[in-house]
Amino acid sequence: MARKKIPPPEYVAPITVRSVIEELPEAEVRQALLSSGDSIAYQFLKSWENPKNKNKDLSLIARDCEFSISHFCKIWEHYNLQRGMMLMVGKVPKVMLDVAEDAQSKMENCPRCDGMGEIQHEKIEMRPDGEVKVSLTRVCPQCKGAKEIRVSGSRDARALMFETMKLTGQRGPLVAIQQNFGERLGQTVGTIEKMIGWGEKQ
Ligand SMILES: [Zn+2]
Repeated sequence: MARKKIPPPEYVAPITVRSVIEELPEAEVRQALLSSGDSIAYQFLKSWENPKNKNKDLSLIARDCEFSISHFCKIWEHYNLQRGMMLMVGKVPKVMLDVAEDAQSKMENCPRCDGMGEIQHEKIEMRPDGEVKVSLTRVCPQCKGAKEIRVSGSRDARALMFETMKLTGQRGPLVAIQQNFGERLGQTVGTIEKMIGWGEKQ
C-alpha cells in the first residue's frame, strides 16, 4: 500500500537572540542590559561591544556567554516595565490634581431655570383697585433666583481621593508602617494605575 505523502513542513527561521534583538531599538537594548544588574547580561554586552567580536554573530556571542532568549526577554520586560512606571509616575501629580478637582463640589447653572433665575409662570391678578396685573414668570423654586446651584463632586473621585489619603477602610492607626516593601510597592502601583485610569476616563 502506497504511503500517503506528507508535504515537507514550511521552513520557519529559528528564533535566536540575534533575531529577537534585531527587531528592537539597539540603544535601548544596550541600556536594558547595562542597567539590569545581571552579570550574564553584562558579560554578553561587553562581549557584544568588544571590537574583536565585530563580525561575530550575536547569537554565537550569546551562546558563548550562556545568555538565553528567555533570559534576555525577562531583562527586556523588566526594563520596559520600569520605564513605563517612571513615565506613569511623572503623570501622577497632574492626575492627582484632576481627581481632587473632580472631587470638589462646584456651582453650576440651575437646571430648573437654565441659569435664568426665573421660570415661566403665567399669572393674572386682579388688584383691589381694579388694576389687572399679568405676570409671565416667577422666581425659580429650585435656586430661589440665585441662578446657580451647588453640585456635589464626583463620588468616584471622592472615594479614590479618600482611599489614596488613607482616610477610609483603615483598621488601626491612620498611618500604618508597612514592613513589606514588595507589598507597599504593589499597593503604590495599584493606586497609580487606578489614578491614571481615572484620569484617562475623564
Ligand atoms: Zn433656578
